[in-house]
Amino acid sequence: MESKASRRKVALITGGSRGIGAATALLAAAQGWDVLISYQSQQAAAEAVVAQARALGANAHAVQADVGEEAQVLKLFGALDERFDSLDALVNNAGVVDVAQTVAEYSLQRLERMFRVNTVGAFVCAREAVLRMSIRRGGRGGAIVNVSSIAARLGAPGQYVDYAASKGAVDVLTLGLAKEVAAEGIRVNAVRPGLIETDIHASGGQPDRVQRLAPNIPMQRGGTAQEVADAIVWLMGDGSHYTTGSLIEISGGNL
Ligand code: NAP
Repeated sequence: MESKASRRKVALITGGSRGIGAATALLAAAQGWDVLISYQSQQAAAEAVVAQARALGANAHAVQADVGEEAQVLKLFGALDERFDSLDALVNNAGVVDVAQTVAEYSLQRLERMFRVNTVGAFVCAREAVLRMSIRRGGRGGAIVNVSSIAARLGAPGQYVDYAASKGAVDVLTLGLAKEVAAEGIRVNAVRPGLIETDIHASGGQPDRVQRLAPNIPMQRGGTAQEVADAIVWLMGDGSHYTTGSLIEISGGNL
């Protein structure tokens, strides 16, 4: 029988097809994790990440699932249950921005999408993870890492206050859930990235955002997805075993 010491740990990373999620999946795979990634629409990108993770020795799979739809989240966790016999880490990474607007300009459709994907999606995924990880429910414990943003403390005025607020709620989810499940063997932490070079800025209509704002960052540059992944994978693993309820800025001093 497989001993616990030799068991490969399993991580579910939402939005693992690109950016911070892809970097996290590959770093985790390189450190001996098996990975299930989800994606929204970029199947080819997701499959490329899976191929790279397998080349690193991981049992890796990708599943299309909109985290803003409960039925699709349940499908994602159903796929997890079929392919793996445990869940050791959930990374709530999938997230969206929108074009720069003031609060006075927001449509209800914009607000509902922002909170459905960034906030409700994180809650529903966290719920499903707790049901599988909790030692009170027969699980082995585990770690949840939420990907928030420094926008949650800065507010993002004139850009996307809605995005900042959706991440502020993720911070509170992190604090509250960490205390709620600490005695059930589950740690819950968040990273708050600053300006990171990924496709997300182009999706908000500002492809040059990192370069434009880099001079305002104390370290004078944007960060890389890899630099955020370093912190996420640390929070996923045993090296952070007394850390829970923490919100960690990965922002080059942009606070
Ligand atoms: P990205 O490069 O745009 O990648 C976004 C990922 O999320 C993709 O894998 C995408 O899937 C997936 N996704 C988007 N909407 C989804 C949905 N409804 N359901 C499931 N998956 C969905 O973004 P990123 O910069 O890596 O961002 C990752 C996280 O970091 C987000 O939560 C973001 O808010 C946060 N963050 C980023 C920055 C930054 O400067 N980049 C700063 C602070 C926080 P597809 O590939 O299929 O589209």
